Amino acid sequence: MTRPIVWTVAGSDSGGGAGIQADLHAMHNLGVHGCSVVSALTAQNSVAVTAAEATSAAMFEAQLQALAADMPARVIKTGMLASEEQIKILLNYINDVWLVVDPVAVSTSGYRLADNAVLQAIHKHLLPRAQLVTPNINELQLLTGVSVDNEEQAITAARQLLQTGVQAVVVKGGHLNTDLPQVTDLLVSADRVVRFQQPRIANAHGHGTGCTLASVLASALALNYPLEDALVMANAYVAAGLHDAEAVGQGTGPVRHHL
Ligand code: PLP
Repeated sequence: MTRPIVWTVAGSDSGGGAGIQADLHAMHNLGVHGCSVVSALTAQNSVAVTAAEATSAAMFEAQLQALAADMPARVIKTGMLASEEQIKILLNYINDVWLVVDPVAVSTSGYRLADNAVLQAIHKHLLPRAQLVTPNINELQLLTGVSVDNEEQAITAARQLLQTGVQAVVVKGGHLNTDLPQVTDLLVSADRVVRFQQPRIANAHGHGTGCTLASVLASALALNYPLEDALVMANAYVAAGLHDAEAVGQGTGPVRHHL
């Protein structure tokens, strides 16, 4: 069997916890080959993001061209994207592949990783081409303008995203009902809403959970698992990572599954 190839198009985290570095860990552990198109460099550690710089359009496209010529993707996963220009370039490479969009906006430490123009470009250009988008509650609000305080509102906002053409929305529920002992993710598509309820794991060391979840989803889809199964795998993987996670540095340690 040929190992499926998955591209992550995302930002580098110098601290090794989130972004490209988290994506490649997860892809490796799932048994796909992960390729990386670096959209931005970030300078960060476990405490803060201190700087970010976009990859030039020429270098962004050169990475895509090199991969397209020799290592075509079965699934492309996007994370942090730095500009509308990058998004327009990327569109030329989304043919005959599945697209999983993680609409990264703000780091847990509060650093704005994508401005409103980038989020609008994701909404306008990427979602119509995507199989799946994986917003957390904050990202769902930023993408739709709908204020979300409960599950019903989350479903309404997710249905609004479906109107872009994206085939399914996974709303990550970790930031909703934080006083409850469980977390409920919602899988919303044209014909159904599926609730995935799981125990809340009280571990502060969860840097990179969003990136990891989307990367496991993308890898499982590349391995031909159906979407529901892929989401169960991704949540089990992140849960194992949260059980294993510990401080590395003074701040928030990375979610990491040590196989
Ligand atoms: N840095 C990069 C490059 C990212 O892509 C992300 C999240 O997507 C983060 C930092 C933030 O990670 P977290 O909010 O899990 O700490």
